[in-house]
Amino acid sequence: MHAQLLTAAGQPLAAADVAAPRPGPEEVLIKVRACAVCRTDLHVVDGDLPNPKLPLIPGHEIVGIVVEKGAQVDRFRIGDRVGVPWLGWTCGECEYCQSGRENLCERARFTGYQLDGGYAELTIADQRYCFGLDPGYGDVEAAPLLCAGLIGYRTLRLAGEGERVGIYGFGAAAHIVAQVARHQGRRVFAFTRPGDQAAQDFARGLGAVWAGGSDEGPPEPLDAALIFAPVGALVPAALAATVKGGTVVCGGIHMSDIPTFPYRLLWEERVVRSVANLTRRDAEEFLALAPKAGIRTTTHTYPLVEANQALADLRSGALEGAAVLVP
Ligand SMILES: [Zn+2]
Ligand SMILES: [Zn+2]
Repeated sequence: MHAQLLTAAGQPLAAADVAAPRPGPEEVLIKVRACAVCRTDLHVVDGDLPNPKLPLIPGHEIVGIVVEKGAQVDRFRIGDRVGVPWLGWTCGECEYCQSGRENLCERARFTGYQLDGGYAELTIADQRYCFGLDPGYGDVEAAPLLCAGLIGYRTLRLAGEGERVGIYGFGAAAHIVAQVARHQGRRVFAFTRPGDQAAQDFARGLGAVWAGGSDEGPPEPLDAALIFAPVGALVPAALAATVKGGTVVCGGIHMSDIPTFPYRLLWEERVVRSVANLTRRDAEEFLALAPKAGIRTTTHTYPLVEANQALADLRSGALEGAAVLVP
């Protein structure tokens, strides 16, 4: 089968013909219909994240059809459409798994990082970490729900109930989270790269009540802020924009260093926290909510062979919404 392979960090992906994977007893073999491109893929390719499987097929926002299944697979049938997210396997035994926090599992394995992912014609996944998808979504449209959507959803959930939500970095995750927040009756304030009028217009089009550059302050203080841009300097900026008791949540897996800042920005019970990975419960909740909330995704499709171009466009900020690879 054709696959886009990472053979060493810092190198472009290479087009390769590799043997089709074989499903184990708990695994399904999936014919990939679409795989969205996540910023985490860039961090894996660039070597920001340690010890990826090598060679690696990246991609963890996979939509495809079950074409073969292992002997113990009982959740899906041949022909079912499934979604495969970042969380690919957990141990079920460690203190985190035992306390409803499998996102922090000591031995977790992640799709497109320690496990081969969806930048290929076929992939395998453990059935316990695959999800059905609402038929109202096309394959391409559904793909960004699987990471941008559901990790974005977890980020919003951990920000608390506040009504005024700032979102820093208006890319794939933000464009979905803004719709969820609006559905929940919250108001969204969108922060983009300074001067990025197109991104600000895009944010307003998705219901943001205000959009501006990340060098600007919001017109009123925020109850919470979500940071999706991998820029550490946004942490003190977001703290300065939040009310007493407000929460700043960093939603990405990698960020540049956070500069020192005066304690008064954190004082008055402001909270800074990160969000790591997802639980299966997050996926079930969000994938059920998305059609009810009328979440739509904005996508740009690329043929699988143009994976490097999709990554380059994500890196340069040229994308509105999410890039999706189609084999
Ligand atoms: Zn575990
Ligand atoms: Zn992701």
